[in-house]
This record gives sequence, C-alpha cells and structure tokens, in this order.
Amino acid sequence: MTTRIPLMAGNWKMNLNHLEAIAQVQKLSQYLTDAKHDFATAEAAVLVPYTDLRSVQTLVDSDNLPIEYGAQDVSEHASGAYTGDISADMLKSLGVKFCAVGHSERREYYGETDALVNAKVRALAAADIVSIVCVGEALEIRKAGNHVPYTVDSLKGSIADLSPEELAKTVIAYEPVWAIGTGEVATPADAQEVIGALREAIAEMYDADVADAMRILYGGSVKSGNVAEIMAEKDIDGALVGGASLDPEEFSKIVRFADHA
Ligand code: PEP
Repeated sequence: MTTRIPLMAGNWKMNLNHLEAIAQVQKLSQYLTDAKHDFATAEAAVLVPYTDLRSVQTLVDSDNLPIEYGAQDVSEHASGAYTGDISADMLKSLGVKFCAVGHSERREYYGETDALVNAKVRALAAADIVSIVCVGEALEIRKAGNHVPYTVDSLKGSIADLSPEELAKTVIAYEPVWAIGTGEVATPADAQEVIGALREAIAEMYDADVADAMRILYGGSVKSGNVAEIMAEKDIDGALVGGASLDPEEFSKIVRFADHA
C-alpha cells in the first residue's frame, strides 16, 4: 500500500518580483486556509525566482504558513568561480525544500543534458534539498511513437548511480514538452502510460519498494478543470504547474483537486 502524499508544485518561472511574491504567497495561503485545506492530503509548494526566496522564507517563517517553497535551478558546483551561479548550500540557508532540475526550458535554452541534471541532483541531495527532476519528450518523438523509451532513458541518465538515500530526496516530473504552456494537455491515459513506465524503470534500477515510494508528477497545462482526472490515474502523484500557478485562486483549486474529483 502506497503512502505517497500528492505534491502540487507551482513553477513561477521568471515571473513576480519579491514584493509580488509576498502578495502571491499570502493570497495562496488565504485561499487554502479559507477552504480548510488539509495539507496532509496534498502538499503545496511554489518554485520561485532566486530573488524572491528570502522574502518568501521570511513570510512563511513569520506567519508559520504551511506552504513549501523552492528554487527552479541550482549549480552543480559547491562554490567558486562560477559567475552567476547559485549553490545548493546557498539555497539550503534560505530554507529551500525543493528545487526543479532539468526543466525542459533549461534543457532547450541552456543545453542542459541528463549528465548535468544528474550532477545537480547530487549537489541538492548533499544539501538535503529535494530535486524535482523533469523529463519529457518533444512532439516529434511522440509522433514517432518513441515517447516511452526516450523518457525512460532520460530518467535513467538523470538519476544514474544515485544511492537509494539520494534517490529518496527526489521527485520526478513527467512533462511532455509539447504540453508545456501550450494549452495541450496529455490525456490522463497518455500521462499514465509514461509515468507507469518510469515507475517500472525505477523498480528495475532499485526495487519495488523504492519505486512505490517515489512521487512522480505530471506537468503540462494542468488547471483546476483537468487536475482531478489526471490525479485519478494510479501512478500520478501530483502536478508541476506553470501558467496556472500564477493565479493563486486557481492554484489553490489545483491543490484541492480532491474537492472536484
Ligand atoms: C511547467 O512550466 O513546468 C509547466 C508545466 O507549465 P504549464 O503548466 O504552463 O504548461
């Protein structure tokens, strides 16, 4: 019997400055509190720009908010002459719990490879930060019918040689590139097909218990109107949400997916 607690993570991308971030998190928290959301049934996290982290940390700590927060990327290096980079330890000192790694926008615009993603996941695990490892295929790969092997290979490269302890500090997000920010949602069955295959791959690499404990999210044009049917699939443990996470009321409804199941 699985004990995976659903996770709804909002990826703000390069939106909202630190003042806007404070207002956004306050509103999100208010919507969830007003609705008496039980965070034991679904966690809510926001992945914010680096410049918002200190403000979000101060708000969450001072008001004791049940919202979790994180970053959208990290350096694979621990410290040194890497101009512009931010280390896992720097994130840790800001109370960061989650960090996205290998988002398709980073893979596409900055050439991030599975090997680099793997190095970043290790750096985060060493700092006790949970990686949200993103994998997913482009439209041509899906059209050619290669989406399952492609995504499984990408996952294997991204989590290669992680110890079970390191792997326990990761969440996987299946995000088909053609469904991100496009309004095109994979059908629940499409998402389940790939996510089920990812869980099987983890079982082969580790064992059934490790695979059963792993949270695997779906991402790609998730909204309050489609989240319940996606969450009804047996292997889907939450969502990575871009556009809809910028509207706090809409995101609160996604977090409360069980209400409109
Ligand atoms: C994302 O950025 O990870 C994402 C899934 O975006 P959207 O929800 O806007 O498709």
